[in-house]
Amino acid sequence: MTRPFNFSAGPAAMPEAVLQQAASEMLDWHGSGMGVMEMSHRGKEFISIYEQAEADFRELLAVPVQFKILFMQGGGLAENAIVPLNLSRGGAADFVLTGSWSEKSFKEAGKFCQAHVAASSHASQFTQLPAASSWQIGKDSRYVHVCSNETIHGVEMHQLPDLKALGCEAPLVVDFSSHVASRSVDWSRVGLAFGGAQKNLGPAGLTVVVVREDLIGHALAHCPSAFDYKLVAQNDSMYNTPPTYGIYMAGLVFQWLKAQREGELTGVAAMAQRNLAKAELLYNFLDGSQLYENRVAKDCRSRMNVPFYLRDESRNEAFLAGAKARGLLQLKGHKSVGGMRASIYNAMPMAGVQALVQYLRDFEQTQA
Ligand SMILES: *Cc1c(COP(=O)(O)O)cnc(C)c1O
Repeated sequence: MTRPFNFSAGPAAMPEAVLQQAASEMLDWHGSGMGVMEMSHRGKEFISIYEQAEADFRELLAVPVQFKILFMQGGGLAENAIVPLNLSRGGAADFVLTGSWSEKSFKEAGKFCQAHVAASSHASQFTQLPAASSWQIGKDSRYVHVCSNETIHGVEMHQLPDLKALGCEAPLVVDFSSHVASRSVDWSRVGLAFGGAQKNLGPAGLTVVVVREDLIGHALAHCPSAFDYKLVAQNDSMYNTPPTYGIYMAGLVFQWLKAQREGELTGVAAMAQRNLAKAELLYNFLDGSQLYENRVAKDCRSRMNVPFYLRDESRNEAFLAGAKARGLLQLKGHKSVGGMRASIYNAMPMAGVQALVQYLRDFEQTQA
């Protein structure tokens, strides 16, 4: 039985091989007589799962030794509060507004620190990125926040900003929830990166935080203990019970990622090449069609989330019904922007994008 192709923005499709492995280990993990959900997080079985997952994530994304990898809960939205609680030190922080998610981060941080807007592409309806040279960063800013892939607006930073080159010593904070592990990360430009797992790493409930050691240990007095990076790091993410099953599933995804190949490339480099090819196929078709359009500037289009519109919006329902009948699921756009959205994360094979493009072409022909 072949499964449908699932274009959900998140929680999103998982690699089928990972789901099958998890199913086969559900009742008895490696002869332990226990399922992973039933294990103590302090037992040797789970500790081995945790250590392998952390080591694999570090290897896949080449995370340098001076960064800690924390497995937390609360998702990207909780980090919007946890980051200022840990990094703001009672001062100000700057935000680059490039879509819904960075706007949310800015609003939430305002409850915990002085949040400033360094730049915004709101005037372009978030179809462009503001040039880094135009950012107005405060002299005493404690950190600068960007969302490197805007899941709703389909805007991606293909390069992280080099704050030092802008004369700014503050650390860069990156929300990479919706493209983590789809491409490499230039850690020399990053102070902290966070992401919920449910787009590209595993099930909802796990949040991965990668934080440079010198940024740990400065939490405000009223920061909840479970959200104090120092306590979380000192306890190897086990200050409180971590999301054990989510860590296990993400660990299986990391193993799957390590086994991926594209020519000479492996792991995240292989994924980056495959993701680029998938995105090019879809964008090239959309750009060449009379019926569909993507409105994002070409130099900042997301390789993960592709929003598009039917020029005749009265055809939206028919489009979605026809897609579903072909086994192409969850293509409806986010309610705040309407239209359609195809999320083509790591777990979406090239065959899924090819099937989508075939459907787009066939549907356009029936409209002629
Ligand atoms: C999905 C998403 C979030 C929110 O994650 P939650 O787990 O719902 O808190 C934050 N930022 C980005 C970029 C996202 O795509």
